Amino acid sequence: MTDRHPKFMRGMFVNGDYLPSASGKTLPVVNPKNGEVFAEVAEGDTVDINVAVDSAERAFEKWGGLSGTERGNLMQRAADILQRRLPEIVSLEVDQIGRPRREMTAQLARLPEWYSYFGSVARTYEDRVPPFGKDHLNYTRRIPLGVVGHLTPWNHPLLILTKKVAPSMAAVNTMVVKPSEYAPITPMILGEIFREASVPDGVYNVVPGYGPTAGLALSSHPRIRKVDLTGGTPTGKAVAAMAGKNLIRFTAELGGKAALVVFPDIPVDRCVAATLFASFVATGQTCVQGSRLLVHRSIHDAVVEALVHRTRAIRLGDPQDLRTQMGPLVSAKQRDMVERYVRIGIEEGATVAAGGERPQGAEFARGYYHLPTVFTNVKSTMRIAQEEIFGPVVCVMPFDSEDEAIALANSTPFGLASSVWTKDVARAHRVAHQLKCGIVWINDHHRIGPASPWGGFKMSGLGHENGIIAYEEYTELQSVIVNLSDAPFDWYADDGREKRYS
Ligand code: NDP
Repeated sequence: MTDRHPKFMRGMFVNGDYLPSASGKTLPVVNPKNGEVFAEVAEGDTVDINVAVDSAERAFEKWGGLSGTERGNLMQRAADILQRRLPEIVSLEVDQIGRPRREMTAQLARLPEWYSYFGSVARTYEDRVPPFGKDHLNYTRRIPLGVVGHLTPWNHPLLILTKKVAPSMAAVNTMVVKPSEYAPITPMILGEIFREASVPDGVYNVVPGYGPTAGLALSSHPRIRKVDLTGGTPTGKAVAAMAGKNLIRFTAELGGKAALVVFPDIPVDRCVAATLFASFVATGQTCVQGSRLLVHRSIHDAVVEALVHRTRAIRLGDPQDLRTQMGPLVSAKQRDMVERYVRIGIEEGATVAAGGERPQGAEFARGYYHLPTVFTNVKSTMRIAQEEIFGPVVCVMPFDSEDEAIALANSTPFGLASSVWTKDVARAHRVAHQLKCGIVWINDHHRIGPASPWGGFKMSGLGHENGIIAYEEYTELQSVIVNLSDAPFDWYADDGREKRYS
């Protein structure tokens, strides 16, 4: 326990309150900057998931009894409370995952927007009246799915959770969350916020635990109507198999290998600033990390020189310190993974131009730090250019032509996001339209908004977060067709004439 969170011992958040798990077991939450356990939370399992699903089922009727305006107002109230509690939540997120305070302050300040936006969707969503001929009226209705399950990762604990919770709430579902074992605290604080906002108890439940136990129990639960996962591609396939077995909805936001595609009309310093932001924010632990810099050969050497210089200047340190620009990786396991890929890159013949090792110094000795790393002389077939490393590593590759740049960008099994950098408007759109990925930024990277659809192609996922489409993916669609005519209709009348539908 730290002074900041003197009695941080929580249960699981079910039916509006903290409860111990049935087994009484707890799981430790470790601060990645020093490896110390600073909190314990309940470790849930199958029995606890059942209790949470019961709670969500009971809340469903009450939640559905409110009008869209009432639900939207409660969500706006939650947005306001979240806003008020942000400083405390920022500190907790920094301690849970080691991302620098300046990053988490910027990211979490955006979250209330999601509840405001989807609260507005709850108030204003309009169904459709598809054309059906003059004698019929056809209208559609959006019906909630029921109890839905959210499985979330550790890299943006509350942002990713919020992208799932806000549309599912707006669409009148109730939910059970299994957060990452590394970051279970802030998802439960969100429960306190909903309780204070007067969202009915049981609409939002959180059962911390491990993926193969609590996660599996949630994704295979027979009374869950949808499972929405953000995680690695192997987890996505395992959870998809569970969803297929129960024939329930499935949304997955999975891994990525995003590229920055930089054309020669972009100044070197702009290219370098873009790469640092795309590649090293969150210590590189984001699904849309710019893990490949594809840069036109005419500026490649100048870019590499400046990139190496700026990368070496990034300040690693205590993530709670506002001056720190890069924190540790989330866990020893994640750092091991980065170190393994650095070794693989060297064995494959790539050159470590910057970083490639742990930082020196006593202040880094107990934490899971790794220097930001630039690889050059990379071939696109190398494992470091194909596989998701999920750490502060960028592979730089030159290209000569637009077609080659597009082919390189599309050459991985992933298809989440990429960015195109050029002042040539026609080229920017032409290239964007040929990239096989769900999100393309032009002259930007990492930007996200509650109304802007987010989802991957290929091995990067299925379905969407954000926007009206996310709301709709949390509903069943019912189509109601009304006969407006009182004219007699008798298909089997034996009049010997041709029959036709109209
Ligand atoms: P994981 O796939 O390890 O875990 C994601 C969640 O699923 C965790 O809550 C985990 O539990 C749980 N889980 C793991 N195994 C199972 C299982 N068999 N059944 C049910 N649940 C399970 O991902 P990480 O937490 O390591 O997050 C990193 C990954 O997330 C990266 O690949 C990254 O690309 C991806 N990601 C994708 C984003 C996108 O928008 N596309 C955004 C952010 C991340 P626990 O961890 O507690 O064991």
